[in-house]
Amino acid sequence: MTKIPFNTPYITGKETEFIKDAVYQEKKLSGNGKYTQLCQNFFEEKYGFNKCLLTTSCTDALEMAAILLNIQEGDEVIMPSYTFVSTANAFVLRGAKIIFVDTLSSHPNVSPEAIKNAITDKTKAIVVVHYAGVACDMDSIMNLANEKGIFVVEDAAQAVDSYYKDQALGGIGHLAAFSFHETKNISSGEGGMLVINDKQFEKRAETIWEKGTNRAAFFRGEVDKYGWVDVGSSFLPSEITAAFLYAQLIDLEDIQNKRRKLWEAYDHFFKTHPHLNQNQLETPLIPDYACNNAHMYYVVLESLEKRMETIQYLKNKGVHAVFHYLPLHASPFYAEKSGNPALPNTQRYSDCLLRLPFHLNVDFKELEKILN
Ligand SMILES: *Cc1c(COP(=O)(O)O)cnc(C)c1O
Repeated sequence: MTKIPFNTPYITGKETEFIKDAVYQEKKLSGNGKYTQLCQNFFEEKYGFNKCLLTTSCTDALEMAAILLNIQEGDEVIMPSYTFVSTANAFVLRGAKIIFVDTLSSHPNVSPEAIKNAITDKTKAIVVVHYAGVACDMDSIMNLANEKGIFVVEDAAQAVDSYYKDQALGGIGHLAAFSFHETKNISSGEGGMLVINDKQFEKRAETIWEKGTNRAAFFRGEVDKYGWVDVGSSFLPSEITAAFLYAQLIDLEDIQNKRRKLWEAYDHFFKTHPHLNQNQLETPLIPDYACNNAHMYYVVLESLEKRMETIQYLKNKGVHAVFHYLPLHASPFYAEKSGNPALPNTQRYSDCLLRLPFHLNVDFKELEKILN
């Protein structure tokens, strides 16, 4: 029986060549060398991001964002409950109270209306998650935030090479975080990046990135010695990681074209299958203001029972399909703190959403047989 795993890493072929160059030619393996610069420049030039800093993960980039926003004990941070734990943990680590809000009924992205209703005098930040790489309704959210002087952080972990209208995701909020984890479109195994769009955070971001020292300014010759000037941590990835990532970035268009083809194949299958109707199964919605970066393919089934049955059926056929996100507001760690409010749309996606294998080694012919 053919096994169809949920994810396998895609290798362009140039990764080891660049790693060899870093090891034997550049002879620099710690962070912020040639390949780190190349990766950061790539994003700044291609998507017009103001300033980028590679990190060891998206989780780390979110933690940097929480430090930069000076999140303090008692501050409130609004975010969707339907997200990965890192979105929340970064702010919980600074003492914030997380206000988890519901998603839209038509899409797993956060509801701007729900955000609006959750804003109080204590709200310090709003964190949006572009689920499946599909843009949140950013005009509504930025307007709300700007009116009240609240910061917006984009968790763009899944949103590389995606847009809201004509603005690249990750370039809209005051800060944004990307992931290059193995399961994302562009990968270095583990990896991430902080984007600093609001210039007031540029200098401090570099200090926090360099363990709370002004080392980066020292290497540019701006100060004659470097020392401890702020809080910080070890957020830089090694040049080996950056070299791997750069090999993926220079092939980004090719990777994205291949992923879009697979996405279209799934979508065509579900939209044209003679025995399916919209009551049995919902296909992903891409709103007019968003674009599709082919991060994942999911369907929404009728019920939790149908979804679990389907996962089991596919598993028996060797196909690894998965669900996504147990709601954070109802999690063992946070249910008591959040008061466990009813978030019906979040609950529906948590119960009924099914993610299908999505990577560039999927044998779609075999999979189509099984799906039929
Ligand atoms: C993958 C993911 C993360 C975590 O990324 P890491 O690079 O593994 O830290 C955070 N938020 C969302 C929405 C993700 O999908």
